[in-house]
Amino acid sequence: MKSVDPDDIEDIPGIRLKKNDAFCFECRPDLACFNLCCRNLNLFLYPYDVIRLKNNLGLSSDEFIDRHTDVVLRPGQHFPDVLLRMADNDQATCPYLTEQGCSVYPDRPDTCRTFPVEQGLLFKSQGKPEPVHFFRPPDFCLGKNESRTFTLDTWAKDQDAATYNSMTVLWSEVRHLFMNDPWGMEGPSGQRAKMAFMAAYNVDRFRSFIFESSFLKRYKVKSDVQARIRKNDTELMKFGFAFIRVTLFGLPSSLLRLR
Ligand code: SF4
Ligand code: SF4
Repeated sequence: MKSVDPDDIEDIPGIRLKKNDAFCFECRPDLACFNLCCRNLNLFLYPYDVIRLKNNLGLSSDEFIDRHTDVVLRPGQHFPDVLLRMADNDQATCPYLTEQGCSVYPDRPDTCRTFPVEQGLLFKSQGKPEPVHFFRPPDFCLGKNESRTFTLDTWAKDQDAATYNSMTVLWSEVRHLFMNDPWGMEGPSGQRAKMAFMAAYNVDRFRSFIFESSFLKRYKVKSDVQARIRKNDTELMKFGFAFIRVTLFGLPSSLLRLR
């Protein structure tokens, strides 16, 4: 989910969709383009995507990140992007693509779920950021010629995307904080940056860090919160977001505070 600046919104390609705008679309295996969209992608993975995929594949967060992602720190940025690593074949297909379609369909990433709609988060100078949406099927996608109509809400319902969309918004709000450099002299490869990446993307390692280090001696975390994050990856991910807000940006959180 891109952070969108109000000055740039008119330049974003695609048709902007407001809440009740309708668009035509249907994806079916009998369309000639079936599976063409699942190759050679810059497919951004967000923290909730990683949780769902690593659990689907029966991998630890470490194993998933090592085997399935490329972690890329772009020039001028202060936090890396996490991209799904395409297969090493002629067409650079998605590693989960099969002839029958997506092999991780119930846990496919937010971007795949919402496609051909692209989401962004519009940050104005004041107030909460506002989700914005653009209908942007590629030229080869025949689904846009079909007659079924959707709005943003009915499309999210059809694709079971509401939870994914809200988790991505949560992350995008945290990610936006990294517009400002929190690292100082230490730079983006220092210890605090590694810790922040772990808190956002590596829930299994972060859980061990919380419960097997002096973390709970340094931070006050209520017992009911401890119980939730011990067993629930999504709760732990949200706790990780709070950890980043508190420790890097000095923002308050109801989930933890320094003792
Ligand atoms: S290109 Fe469009 S219609 Fe074809 S398989 Fe992909 S999403 Fe479906
Ligand atoms: S995860 Fe599934 S839907 Fe997404 S690109 Fe891969 S095969 Fe296609």
